Amino acid sequence: MRRAMAMARRISHCESAPKETADAVVIGAGVVGIAVARELAIRGRDVLVLESAPTFGTGTSSRNSEVVHAGIYYPLDSFKAKFCVRGRDLLYRYCSERGIPHSKLGKLIVATGTAQIPSLEKLKRRGEENGVEGLKMLDAREAMHMEPELVCVKALLSACSGIVDSHSLMISMLGEAESHKTMVSFNTTIIGGHVEEGKLHLHISETEEIDKSVSASPLRPQLVVIPKLIINAAGLGAVSLAKRFHGLNHRFIPTCYCARGCYFTMSGMKNPFRRLIYPIPEDGGLGVHVTLDLCGSVKFGPDVEWIDSPDETSMLLGRFDYSVDPSRSARFYSEIRKYYPNLKDGSLEPGYAGIRVKLSGPGNPPADFLIQGEETHGLPGLVNLFGIESPGLTSSLAIAEYVASKYSS
Ligand SMILES: Cc1cc2nc3c(=O)[nH]c(=O)nc-3n(C[C@H](O)[C@H](O)[C@H](O)COP(=O)(O)OP(=O)(O)OC[C@H]3O[C@@H](n4cnc5c(N)ncnc54)[C@H](O)[C@@H]3O)c2cc1C
Repeated sequence: MRRAMAMARRISHCESAPKETADAVVIGAGVVGIAVARELAIRGRDVLVLESAPTFGTGTSSRNSEVVHAGIYYPLDSFKAKFCVRGRDLLYRYCSERGIPHSKLGKLIVATGTAQIPSLEKLKRRGEENGVEGLKMLDAREAMHMEPELVCVKALLSACSGIVDSHSLMISMLGEAESHKTMVSFNTTIIGGHVEEGKLHLHISETEEIDKSVSASPLRPQLVVIPKLIINAAGLGAVSLAKRFHGLNHRFIPTCYCARGCYFTMSGMKNPFRRLIYPIPEDGGLGVHVTLDLCGSVKFGPDVEWIDSPDETSMLLGRFDYSVDPSRSARFYSEIRKYYPNLKDGSLEPGYAGIRVKLSGPGNPPADFLIQGEETHGLPGLVNLFGIESPGLTSSLAIAEYVASKYSS
């Protein structure tokens, strides 16, 4: 009864807002939302992308390592394994065909003590099961010959790992989506929704207006859009947004955890490595690794700092704490020196941070990507993309392919 009254109140709050219908709406213009919009548009859907920020890719999609992962780490047959392997191939092909800066420079995962060798061997087996080609176990001499500044006891070479300019990738995919008639509306926030006559009605407001009236409850939409297909690709905000869809069965909405990852850059020293160097993975992340960008500069990170999930308003407005605490460098020095002992004191400078969206908490095994459509939650036309953490950038084209073929035929 109380729920029905809340619903009635919510509907009455929308009554004054103009209503429009739409074919397909993608919520969020990060790399995944853009890839999905492009794929749907190429397949002939009329796509509208709604993004709360003033431009595309300002969230996690521009706060990551820009590594094209091979597909080594993930359990057999998981979405992460399948989408990473498929997505990596699609991504390299896409980038080569369109001149998007990228480099298949290869990566070494290193054991720095004999106790880590079984973990390295397990990673090799897992990668091979996942269909990753070009994996080769190297002894210390071979690895240190390839990377003279490296110190390790054994290393796993992944020849097909690489890096990509994620901004150029997003510009290209967005341009292609727009050339297939996709419309993009920035500064436009989905503040919630309600189910009426079996369809999800999206409540929409200009981002600036939410800022002014954030204390009002419930927020009043300026527009209600009734799409045939909705892809919730809101990244960090996807779970909290789904909770604002009244009439959707909330039993299927997972708990979301957040882990900040900070990067440090190196100054006053020549770039010591030609390849990506990764330690054995740690709880919550892949370990403080060495990433190169396409200009050849080096960065270290990300570390793992479990943080409280931001409150609903921050989620809605995309306001997250991305500051990098310089005192975190102490742990960086000790972690990095395990495989790069020549790192000089004072050479690390705070870089940037990103926030991982996770569906499993500290100490638990990593959860898979969660893609929920009508078959799970029972609501026609809504697809929620939850927990799209790493390797989400690598997987973006494969996720798009999957979503479009499963939900838009
Ligand atoms: C530290 C770190 C390192 C990583 N490294 C790698 C890597 O090397 N390789 C790799 O493959 N992956 C990596 N990842 C993962 C990858 O970055 C993400 O999986 C990917 O960027 C997710 O893209 P997205 O489009 O789902 O989310 P986002 O980029 O967060 O985009 C979501 C968009 O939705 C918008 N939005 C949110 N709520 C609303 C709303 N209510 N209304 C309208 N718009 C809304 C946001 O403003 C945002 O633009 C890393 C992630 C982190 C955190």
